[in-house]
Amino acid sequence: MFGKILIANRGEIALRIQRACRELGIRTVVVHSEADRDAKYVKLADESVCIGPAPSAQSYLNIPAIISAAEVTDSEAIHPGYGFLSENADFAERVETSGFTFIGPRAETIRLMGDKVSAKNAMREAQVPCVPGSEGALPDDPKEIVKIARAIGYPVIIKAAGGGGGRGMRVVHTEAALVNAVQMTRQEAQTAFGNPTVYMEKYLENPRHVEIQILADEHGNAVYLGERDCSMQRRHQKIIEEAPAPHIPARLITRIGERCAEACRKIKYRGAGTFEFLYENGEFYFIEMNTRVQVEHPVSEAITGIDIVQEQIRVAFGEKLRYRQKDISFRGHAIECRINAEDPFTFVPSPGRIEFYHPPGGPGIRVDSHIYQGYTVPPHYDSMVAKVIAFGDTREQAIRRMRIALSEMSVQGIKTNIPLHQELMQDARFVEGGTSIHYLEQRLADKGEVKR
Ligand code: ADP
Repeated sequence: MFGKILIANRGEIALRIQRACRELGIRTVVVHSEADRDAKYVKLADESVCIGPAPSAQSYLNIPAIISAAEVTDSEAIHPGYGFLSENADFAERVETSGFTFIGPRAETIRLMGDKVSAKNAMREAQVPCVPGSEGALPDDPKEIVKIARAIGYPVIIKAAGGGGGRGMRVVHTEAALVNAVQMTRQEAQTAFGNPTVYMEKYLENPRHVEIQILADEHGNAVYLGERDCSMQRRHQKIIEEAPAPHIPARLITRIGERCAEACRKIKYRGAGTFEFLYENGEFYFIEMNTRVQVEHPVSEAITGIDIVQEQIRVAFGEKLRYRQKDISFRGHAIECRINAEDPFTFVPSPGRIEFYHPPGGPGIRVDSHIYQGYTVPPHYDSMVAKVIAFGDTREQAIRRMRIALSEMSVQGIKTNIPLHQELMQDARFVEGGTSIHYLEQRLADKGEVKR
């Protein structure tokens, strides 16, 4: 096994990776910005290296600084976590050519999946069902574009091949608006992602977001660890995730899970990964693959008993997967609430000093967080400060435990979205299960109406 791993990330995931390493007997190096110097997880690591000032462009995205930190500390491998450089193929390549192991897929796989047009083509070839749409990139000829949209049927969505983070997409309802919308999306895509390629899909009006977790090794083995429902979103940001997805027949999950595992074998995928789908009227439609560990991985760990981060490290070292599909069974139900430092109803970020902190606990509760009393949430990064995961034999029990956990949890000095989560855990439609990706925004809009 590796002797020492460098963690190129911050916050809860830096701590999560550190815990996995410690359990495997691996020493850890944490890199950090000046803003994160005093964080406890930095002190907990065996070694730490400051790689630059607070802005991430100069620290957590600073490839030369991270590589030299790995060199001076004699690290053997680099774990990128999620966000930052985790899906940057150039970084993965630099890590490998500098003589370290990148804990994730090969650079060429990241590149293939990072371009949504090539990803979709690869998935079609592997017989993973995709959203109906253009065969690859849209042509320049407006007449051709109109033809393609007619064949798909309105509404359609124009998406940037290089897009990410919910940006670079435009929904078009009528032919009159089409050509202009394509033009605008192209320009935005060029500016934001340096790639003007766009493609077209049928716009699904009321889907759920359901994703499949997979693990694969470089010896041609791949398994799926079930699904997660991440439909509770605002501005394409997930806030609640759960596993399994309510009211989806197990045979459908088995079928799509097997397709995903097969696709991994086909593209020679290595590591942990997620196939994201929209799910509507009993059908799955692939939208993209994430080639890294996800924020919401703990709900899959809860129902399978598999430590996804440890498995990532093992397969990066070259080990064979320790599980065959028949060894994997699903038990109970898990829900994760992302606790953000923000106003619960206006969503304005609320960084600052945590004056009082009391985390929840008890049966079935897991808290993944780097915060503590006296910790200052820096204003420079993502606002997520904790993940509360509730596990139960049934979904009802998981919800009950989550309600108790949220009522116990106290974070003072900054605002958090705990009150929003508390409302949602009592919401009749959430409790029923299976709400669409638009539910939260509609609910927030409706509430605004009432107040006015
Ligand atoms: P990103 O990489 O920016 O997250 P995705 O392709 O994953 O982009 O899409 C983000 C979100 O946009 C989806 O979760 C969904 O809410 C919406 N979306 C994307 N494609 C479609 C589609 N064809 N129909 C309806 N909604 C879509």
